[in-house]
Amino acid sequence: MKHLFLCFVLAFVFILPLTAADTLDFWVVDVEGGKAIIVRNPSGQTMLIDGGMPGFNDRDLNRVLAAAQDAGVKRFDVALITHYDVDHVGNVPNIDSKLPITLLVDHGPLLPNPKLAGINRRAADAYVAFLRGRKRLSVKPGDTIPFRDVRITVVTSNEQVISKPLSGGGIANDACPAEGPAQTRDDDNAASIGTVWQFGRFRMADFGDLVKWAEYKLMCPKNPIGTVDLFMVSHHGLDRSNSPALVHALRPKVAISNNGERKGISPEVARTLRSSPGLEDVWQLHYSTTAGPDLNTSEQYIANMKAQGCQGHWIKISARRDGSFTVTNTRNNVSKTYKK
Ligand SMILES: [Zn+2]
Repeated sequence: MKHLFLCFVLAFVFILPLTAADTLDFWVVDVEGGKAIIVRNPSGQTMLIDGGMPGFNDRDLNRVLAAAQDAGVKRFDVALITHYDVDHVGNVPNIDSKLPITLLVDHGPLLPNPKLAGINRRAADAYVAFLRGRKRLSVKPGDTIPFRDVRITVVTSNEQVISKPLSGGGIANDACPAEGPAQTRDDDNAASIGTVWQFGRFRMADFGDLVKWAEYKLMCPKNPIGTVDLFMVSHHGLDRSNSPALVHALRPKVAISNNGERKGISPEVARTLRSSPGLEDVWQLHYSTTAGPDLNTSEQYIANMKAQGCQGHWIKISARRDGSFTVTNTRNNVSKTYKK
């Protein structure tokens, strides 16, 4: 009996870790022009990046729960809140009531902002109330976010940018315009947390809804990041973000766009992505009516074709330490692997 017990213990200690996938996995959830991503690292830790919108009969909540079930996620070790606008933070308390969140990572206090109004102001206030008594980590550029197996470096937060280049960064950026756009503060977009993820040789960047003037502040005149394999398109593919100074300098192989049917991708951003050096494919959560028939990506890489009766298919990404990664469209099971 004692030996049998020991066998069980040894099986858990030695066999399970060997059979667990050694991949960093992302479920990019369709929240109709908001943002919600589930991440699982090889150690089994889980992260939520934003949570989509509240309301709409719990549309986004149900989609996050469906993707979480596919991921085998019952709780989140970390929720990374890129910023406090409603399509990012508004649904986080609802998700927490179903899949408890241990640590909330955010950009810290709201900057004075008379233009932050309506549902975005209410979402920001509700998040501050939700934080009470919870474990919170507010990050600044240069900080890392605790998540095993991956080095996640914060490069922007609360309108500040990293001062020391990352390894591979610090190079002159040819895509910078002579002058940057004027600084404005509309919603909370410019305060977005931007992160660079290093998993073995795989590199990914995500900037939430960072706007063009903040992209310029980060990337010009020198690119502090270097290049990435995967770019999570900023701000649902809207042209208030995604300047060539950011996208072309990062030289991603693949761009994943969290656009809705009518929110993003703008024609200008579609052109910026297409002309980005080294870009192989764009994958979209939705067919975009604003991009029109000529500027959408090929249909096989679009996860949802219509908002009406939308099934909310997600895009799955599995990254390996050798730098290769596989993207899957769960609508049609089209999968493509990209090599380093
Ligand atoms: Zn947004």
